[in-house]
Amino acid sequence: MSTPIPLIRSTLLAQFPYARLAQSTRQGEGADAPFGFNLGYGLGDDDTRVTGNIARFAARLDLDPEDLAFMKQVHGDTIREITQAGVYDDTDALITRQPGVGLTVRTADCVPVMLYAPGENLVAAVHAGWRGTAEHITQKTAMRVIEEFGVEPEALYAYVGASAGSCCYEVGEDVAALFPEGWVLRRDEGNPHLDLKGLNTHQLEQCGVPAANIEVSDHCSIHEETLLHSWRRDAQRSGRMLTTIVLQEEI
Ligand SMILES: [Zn+2]
Repeated sequence: MSTPIPLIRSTLLAQFPYARLAQSTRQGEGADAPFGFNLGYGLGDDDTRVTGNIARFAARLDLDPEDLAFMKQVHGDTIREITQAGVYDDTDALITRQPGVGLTVRTADCVPVMLYAPGENLVAAVHAGWRGTAEHITQKTAMRVIEEFGVEPEALYAYVGASAGSCCYEVGEDVAALFPEGWVLRRDEGNPHLDLKGLNTHQLEQCGVPAANIEVSDHCSIHEETLLHSWRRDAQRSGRMLTTIVLQEEI
């Protein structure tokens, strides 16, 4: 078996023994792999290679690939509560209380937001690009966790994952107009930059989640070209990363 693949972990969530979280990177394959360590199908990469990569990633979380729950993400605001692994159509957020089901978000530049309520033994996973962020997908998911599952906001923890940073994420004025000015950065003559991670963090804070309960990744997918995949940077040559959170199975 090959050496373990590099992962990005959450320091904040790692303090809890009953949930595991990891985000994959571009790294983990030889230089001959045109898409790097790619976990996305249908991009032009070899399907067999992708399947093997997904298995290697899952193994780092002590999971089999069939333990993962995937979303066919559509940049919408559909949230599903699930009890088993599989592929869920037309979905951008998943919630589960089922141990051993790995909720998975597939991204290049979009923000994976992973939620954990230790007291209720509940996890959630959100795919938030600019469209989903404009539709408040993260806020809606957190509110559902709070209102339907009785989780106190102070007892909710979050990881806002590696994704397009405000340093690099340019948008047009039409997109910028959808967001509060505080998260639209105008530093020079060029296009405005959008702070997607900041917006999603703000949506969690709007639900009452304390800032101390939210870990925001510093990594920027667009300029960290050796570490991360980026659609914005590589377009048709871009692979995909997975971020997965799973509740520990009963012992
Ligand atoms: Zn950047």
